[in-house]
Amino acid sequence: MNLQRSKELFDKSQKCIPGGVNSPVRSFKGMEISPPFIKSAEGCYIIDEDNNTYIDYVLSWGPMILGHGDKDVKDAIGKQLNLGTSFGAPTLLELQLAQEILDIYESMDMIRMVCSGTEATMSAIRLARGYSKKEKIIKFNGCYHGHGDCLLVEAGSGALTHGEPNSPGVLADIAKHTLVAEYNDISSVEALFKENPDNIAGIIVEPIPGNMGVLLPQNDFLKNLRSLCDKYNSLLIFDEVMSGFRASFNGAEKLFGVEPDLITLGKVIGGGLPVGAYGGKRDIMKEISPIGPVYQAGTLSGNPLAMTAGLTTLNKLKSLNPYQDLSNSVKEMAKDIKKTNSKFGKNYCFNHIGSMFTLFFYEGEVTKKSDVDKCDFTLFSKYFTFMMERGIYIAPSQYEAGFVSVCHTSQDLEKTAKSYYDFLQQV
Ligand SMILES: *Cc1c(COP(=O)(O)O)cnc(C)c1O
Repeated sequence: MNLQRSKELFDKSQKCIPGGVNSPVRSFKGMEISPPFIKSAEGCYIIDEDNNTYIDYVLSWGPMILGHGDKDVKDAIGKQLNLGTSFGAPTLLELQLAQEILDIYESMDMIRMVCSGTEATMSAIRLARGYSKKEKIIKFNGCYHGHGDCLLVEAGSGALTHGEPNSPGVLADIAKHTLVAEYNDISSVEALFKENPDNIAGIIVEPIPGNMGVLLPQNDFLKNLRSLCDKYNSLLIFDEVMSGFRASFNGAEKLFGVEPDLITLGKVIGGGLPVGAYGGKRDIMKEISPIGPVYQAGTLSGNPLAMTAGLTTLNKLKSLNPYQDLSNSVKEMAKDIKKTNSKFGKNYCFNHIGSMFTLFFYEGEVTKKSDVDKCDFTLFSKYFTFMMERGIYIAPSQYEAGFVSVCHTSQDLEKTAKSYYDFLQQV
């Protein structure tokens, strides 16, 4: 694999942009090779500046469920381009996308558009605090909710202490209001509620975590979160920026039969353009400005290009209904990996749901953050290089999810499975 031009560009970029990238994970930190600079993409393929083609399992970190360059999405954007790209005034497209999402997410009565997932979660938390008039938030170790100050927090030392900043620049005074529990460990959540019975505004959780690799909720974990929130009069926030329209069409609420109070969305609902959204119960959403006192605004919020890309994507997903096929593709992958594993006497974990998956280099079940931490990271980085050289682009970290799109064919998936086989054979 020749990455010469990409290497030159990466060297130059590193002089102009911190780490050469506009989002850290793109820098391939900890991997053996430097990132390819992507020139174009079509379907499930991306092409770099050295003209290498890869099967893309990153899909812009989730959004491109219809594959790159979907004709309907492109046409819709082109049409809007001629009508205008931003007005800063209400548009029909915003109403249409809002109606579409409210129709699909049964628990949601109202929704507000923003420009990124980070903005969505920050705003949802401000709203939860403003509505409940309580201060503290519970988040889970290993769940990611964007880079808002109150969410860049890790557990303090000692089981029940308040959270501590996990980035310089986040004030300890802010971080201390975020409490950190363990995903899939309801007792860790109960303990935090017992310690702060009157002051927890809400829990924010990726109902299906994808940001420590894909994990699944175990033993009614989400139902139990709902019960605790009801008992202590706190809000339950499902962060479905990644899992929304990925794990299923109707969201985690339908999949697991648990109704959250607020939901954050992003990624797929922007069809590849910058979008986020938060929505929920009417009496909560009515607290947002201009009808309520909780302030939140955005110059480019509800941008018509993003709205039309998102709307076209959701309409197409509704009519194609590809979820069973996508899920079957990933199940097929799981079967192949299992076969390969047993051939080589390994038991590496492959977690998946809908069109999301992660292969963990850990022999056993991965249900919590501490399991992910035990993966063989050296082996992962070798695997990563091996796959890149085979023309297969996966996320450059064990803590990420992979995605399939409607454009991935059985040949693409077979090539990927064969490459895993060849990797284990030569390692
Ligand atoms: C990607 C992601 C975010 C952040 O979204 P951005 O658009 O990158 O700001 C928040 N929550 C989850 C679950 C995500 O996967």
